[in-house]
Amino acid sequence: MPAYDYVCRECGARFEVRMSMAAYAESVTPDCEQCGSSRVERAFTAVSVLTGGRGGGASSAASCGSGRFT
Ligand SMILES: [Zn+2]
Repeated sequence: MPAYDYVCRECGARFEVRMSMAAYAESVTPDCEQCGSSRVERAFTAVSVLTGGRGGGASSAASCGSGRFT
């Protein structure tokens, strides 16, 4: 299940929520983990930050992309 970043407009907290792509497509918005506010919106993050370097060896490269879970 993919994870999506959300930002709370109330307290500014940023958190990650795992939900199905179906739920995401239906714009299901979670409440803020911090203050419980429903004024939460999606944060579109640059998933892979270009820090000018390869060779991290971090395994996160494979985590994005394929959302095919059929
Ligand atoms: Zn909040």
